Amino acid sequence: MLKFDVGKIMIKWLYLIFCYIGLHRYEKVDISFSFGPGGSTETIRCKDCGVKKLRKKR
Ligand SMILES: [Zn+2]
Repeated sequence: MLKFDVGKIMIKWLYLIFCYIGLHRYEKVDISFSFGPGGSTETIRCKDCGVKKLRKKR
């Protein structure tokens, strides 16, 4: 017998649908400081689909 949490899978699917329409749940994974003209950047990653983005800090 397979035992798994249907509710959790449903929520995961819901989040993936949100990802699909561009609503990612980002978390900060890395912040790099630089003193050049580019300024500091932080790397953010989506908790659900794993997409990474570089964001400039002002
Ligand atoms: Zn996502």
